[in-house]
Amino acid sequence: MPRHLLTQMRSLATEKYPLETGGVLIGYTGGAGGDDVVIVAITGPGPGAHHSETTLEPDHEYQTQEIARIYRASKGVHTYLGDWHTHPGSAADLSRRDKKTLKHIASHRDARMDRPIMAILGEGSPWTLKVWRLVLGSVVVFRRARYYEMDVHETP
Ligand SMILES: [Zn+2]
Repeated sequence: MPRHLLTQMRSLATEKYPLETGGVLIGYTGGAGGDDVVIVAITGPGPGAHHSETTLEPDHEYQTQEIARIYRASKGVHTYLGDWHTHPGSAADLSRRDKKTLKHIASHRDARMDRPIMAILGEGSPWTLKVWRLVLGSVVVFRRARYYEMDVHETP
């Protein structure tokens, strides 16, 4: 993840503190079996988002437009990878609702992302970043969900 995007996420996070904020993560996957994820852009929550201290309802129309705009500009290379949001005053770990959201993204055909990621900025002074990824089991009937924390590499 490029440093300027981390800086941008942190300043959006601080701007809304102690309310939650967030947006989407856009980029591409690579490496063996698509295990590597490269973030090339993020969005904010959008003008119609609703923020509280424990919830965020993003402006879906804004986010859909931004995803489409960036997709077109990259000639179809840069796509939706998942979401990011803040946990002001608490850990950057996945909540029960976050896990549900990840499963929802993975099952949503339009998202075309079967192993979505979720970046969480926790605490707030300073922000701690954790990036989580959902992996669904290969046995369709059971579809056991696993969530693992990714290694984050900052690039210049
Ligand atoms: Zn959360």
